[in-house]
Amino acid sequence: MRRFFKNVPDKDWLSYEWQIRNRIRTLDELKAFIKLTPEEEEGIRRTRGLYPMAITPYYLSLIDPDDPNDPVRLQAIPRVVEVDEKVQAKGEPDALREEGQIPGLTHRYPDRVLMVVTTFCAVYCRHCMRKRIFSQGERSLTKAEIDRIIDYIKQHEEVRDVLISGGDPLSMSLEKIEYILKRLREIKHVEIIRFGTRLPVLAPQRFFDNRLLDILERYSPIWINTHFNHPKEITDLSAEAVDRLLRIGIPVNNQAVLLKGVNDDPDTMLELSRKLLRIKVKPQYLFHCDPIKGAVHFRTTVDKGLEIINYMRGRISGMGIPTYAVDLPGGKGKVPLLPEYIVSRMGNTFLFRSFSGEIVEYTIDEVA
Ligand code: SF4
Repeated sequence: MRRFFKNVPDKDWLSYEWQIRNRIRTLDELKAFIKLTPEEEEGIRRTRGLYPMAITPYYLSLIDPDDPNDPVRLQAIPRVVEVDEKVQAKGEPDALREEGQIPGLTHRYPDRVLMVVTTFCAVYCRHCMRKRIFSQGERSLTKAEIDRIIDYIKQHEEVRDVLISGGDPLSMSLEKIEYILKRLREIKHVEIIRFGTRLPVLAPQRFFDNRLLDILERYSPIWINTHFNHPKEITDLSAEAVDRLLRIGIPVNNQAVLLKGVNDDPDTMLELSRKLLRIKVKPQYLFHCDPIKGAVHFRTTVDKGLEIINYMRGRISGMGIPTYAVDLPGGKGKVPLLPEYIVSRMGNTFLFRSFSGEIVEYTIDEVA
């Protein structure tokens, strides 16, 4: 769908560079496409410099301009609530304590590290857990900064898995992407490399560049975590981007965030999972929204998350049910949350609640 951009030729519309060059960054540019609400107009003015706006023409074209509560609109267009002091006092810039001694590196779990390699994103999502880096301007780590992280990983043989994130790491130059992959692959104990990228959602044209695909394939095995939050975001172009990744052997998993007004509804999440499976993306996680300064207004209750997971069970195969998880404050890690399926227990005899709500007694003994 190409709402607002019908006259743009295919060669431009399908070009990632064109999408990035033509990002909508100012109030006046946006007003040319969408009649904004007063809350949005003031939001764009007051978040400037702190939580800037950028929207690719592709992502903008997914918005229904007549719906002020459109789920893509809520994720892309700033609103004044982001800087409302009373609301935002409930959030912290770095609630997950990612910032450490070495810029761009977080080493929380023994076997894994996180590299935050750039502050650049095609779209600045209003709910982003790393909103704190938006105001730093658009920059990527230098080679010297990357080398410092690589040296750390080299010295820590327990690190088997490296998650490269940002910002959007696949927005970096091909040269820098290849540099990081090459250096990581020189380290024998690094087995898994993952990219956290939202480009399949925000600018899927990125994956129409065979030079990028060649690089990713060369340094296999590589996994991609992406971030579809709403079924509207699954389009022919995003499906094609995923397909191109799958064809070069890169699995794509989805990590959605539970966002009030966007996807905090059982039917919406069920539809999202169905559409993800149709394009062969595994719905891996549904994260409870973290208490991030500038994004706390997207938080809903844990009961809502549990209700959604409970609703999905019995309506879609287990493959389509994400793990609902909350990140503990202070960087203490993720905890999976499940609806209560064990009602009571006496020894090995359980009362289970089935997906339809039926209570079933079942004794499970070990067979010697
Ligand atoms: S693409 Fe990811 S890192 Fe960038 S703003 Fe959106 S959620 Fe945050």
